[in-house]
Amino acid sequence: MLSALNGRLSNRLARHFRAAPHRLPAHAPMVSFTFDDAPDSAAGEGASLLEAHGGRGTFYLAGSLVDQPRDHWHGLSNDAIVRLHRGGHEIGCHTFSHLRAVDLDESAMAREIERNRSHFFGIDPSIRLENFAYPYGLASVWRKPQLAQNFRSARGILPGVNSDVIDLQFLRASPLVTCEIDTDGVDRYFDEAVASGGWLIFYGHDVVDAPSPYGCTPDLLRHALKAAGARNMPIVTVAEALRRIGA
Ligand SMILES: [Zn+2]
Repeated sequence: MLSALNGRLSNRLARHFRAAPHRLPAHAPMVSFTFDDAPDSAAGEGASLLEAHGGRGTFYLAGSLVDQPRDHWHGLSNDAIVRLHRGGHEIGCHTFSHLRAVDLDESAMAREIERNRSHFFGIDPSIRLENFAYPYGLASVWRKPQLAQNFRSARGILPGVNSDVIDLQFLRASPLVTCEIDTDGVDRYFDEAVASGGWLIFYGHDVVDAPSPYGCTPDLLRHALKAAGARNMPIVTVAEALRRIGA
């Protein structure tokens, strides 16, 4: 109970403290599609749809979930990881054991980072994990500065567009999750990104016709990709977005 409270408090505090502020250049709306964990369908249909629209995605992976059955999907395979990496998609870090940052002390987090790095190095030595996403979207005010020393950015699941002065160590991300958002909701985020000139990040998991409570249908992803095209918004990985904003 106390731990749960501390977790929520640490997550809230992380929104407001120890920020890595970065001012976006004037009006350069863009969108990133990110997939957490990641299910084999994200690496399959998800990546194919992105590529068909000239985009690439960021896949935040935890080594312990690779090629493993989960409640709602099967984790992507080593072959899929290599294919994504060589195809220009980005592999990001999601801890090795998929643990909440609020439950890890400094040395435990350091071990998680190192273990995940060496896991993906073993799959393909040219994979570099430059960016991080918090498992369960739960940030930690205590781990935030440690992550900042190891990664260029950290992403949560606080919805909204990243605009004006953004926090690189608590990037906002909105759900591309069928049970949480419909096409109108997706369009609203795109319109907000155009109006603010900001950086829109979506997060999701599986991409299948009957998605889990955490994933989306191919139709919803297709709709979002078309919405980006209609607004001339580049579809870029998190690493590429950071290059474009000079972070
Ligand atoms: Zn996750």
